[in-house]
Amino acid sequence: MELLEERIRKEGTVKPGQVLKVDSFINHQMDVKLFRAMAQQWKRDFADAGVNKIVTIEASGIGIAAIVGEEFDVPVVFAKKSQSINLDGSVYTAKIHSYTHQRDYDVIVSKKYVGPGDRILLIDDFMANGCAMNGLIDICETAGATVVGIGIAIEKGFQPGGADLRARGYRVDSLAIVESMDDATGRIEFRA
Ligand code: 5GP
Repeated sequence: MELLEERIRKEGTVKPGQVLKVDSFINHQMDVKLFRAMAQQWKRDFADAGVNKIVTIEASGIGIAAIVGEEFDVPVVFAKKSQSINLDGSVYTAKIHSYTHQRDYDVIVSKKYVGPGDRILLIDDFMANGCAMNGLIDICETAGATVVGIGIAIEKGFQPGGADLRARGYRVDSLAIVESMDDATGRIEFRA
């Protein structure tokens, strides 16, 4: 998506550890007009998928997913980071390794909000190794739902998450795929 790539080129900064910072328009300050254009693109790409729910993960997926939910006119659920254990069995849980914080944490989704018959579009801001999306897939599939697509704003194509999920048959639609980036020069290259 040209609009997103242009914005990354202009405002994105490359940090050590292969982290791309896009705080000025995606995950701190948010450009909701850009989110709308992204949501409309996914709406076109997944028009045939029968999406009836959007699922994302706390925190930076929520802003984007909210606009996507409005575009599809379906509810939006976000997996919550949780300290507490699933004592009464009312939630699905997954353990996720945080790429940016380099630690594991648990996320939960209430059994009330995902279940059999749901056709879910997963949304997130970034894909790196795919841990966040694999955790959400686990939760949705344990609930008996179908993951009909995965919409990612920025995929780092030199990390394995996207390729692994596509190889397993998931429909991954990344609006910008970074082929390489260099924290010394600040150079960012996109996949054509
Ligand atoms: P994964 O689980 O695919 O390894 O990493 C994806 C998650 O880590 C996303 O939810 C995102 O919040 C965070 N993340 C991974 N790489 C980056 C990055 O380069 N920049 C930012 N801002 N977040 C990232």
